[in-house]
Amino acid sequence: MASIKELQEQACAANKEIEHRGLALYTWGNVSVFDRDSGLFAIKPSGVPYSELSPPMFPIIDLDGKRVEGKLNPSSDTPTHAILYKEFAIHDGALMRSIIHTHSTFATAWAQACRSIPVFGTTHADHAPHAIPCTRYPSASEVGGDYEMETGNLIVRTFRNVRDSRLIESTDSTELYNMKPLHPDYVQMIIVAGHGPFAWGKTWNESVYHGVVLEELARIALLTEQLNPGSTNLPNYIREKHFARKHGPNAYYGQKNDNT
Ligand SMILES: [Zn+2]
Repeated sequence: MASIKELQEQACAANKEIEHRGLALYTWGNVSVFDRDSGLFAIKPSGVPYSELSPPMFPIIDLDGKRVEGKLNPSSDTPTHAILYKEFAIHDGALMRSIIHTHSTFATAWAQACRSIPVFGTTHADHAPHAIPCTRYPSASEVGGDYEMETGNLIVRTFRNVRDSRLIESTDSTELYNMKPLHPDYVQMIIVAGHGPFAWGKTWNESVYHGVVLEELARIALLTEQLNPGSTNLPNYIREKHFARKHGPNAYYGQKNDNT
């Protein structure tokens, strides 16, 4: 079990990293770090510039989104993080221990276009066997209610009911990765229509890594469509090969425990 101090230290390092990686201007992004045993997570305090962050400033939040420790107000996106941990990490048993949310430029552009990011090439297939899903717009009642919590619910529904999400462009798959619904351990990224990207990982380093990867996949996909507006999905047999060699049961890419 991670101590509160450890959660705060990791969350602080993660939030400083998103600025270092160029994923967020001003305070346009947040990372949280979750301990499954205690059901608590540390998240960026609202409105504090990354350069001014220190570990004791990080509020500790329970799965109902309530602050149980710390003096500063948590990020306004805290209820979204709480829902994703509750549904994916606890209910589904996903290895989600950290979540990143930013408004990084290219991923946000696809979100604003309300488009899932197609699997055009092996860079994408190395990280996800499917299109990066885009949710629908939140409804008026979702926005008028507990908006941030409903954003989390919208993400969960998109994963669990991929056929009805309307915006998934490519849901075909192989026997091995025939995931309908999508599983948050295999597709660790999503974009929320009209808003921006969320990503996660087994550690804070991995969630920031996925935030960076998602931004690059979005950039490459846009360039691909500019060069050839008729670009099509990578053939399934190439897509499957690339995902399986990194993440399949007989993965052989990289060194043991290597993430790159
Ligand atoms: Zn946002």
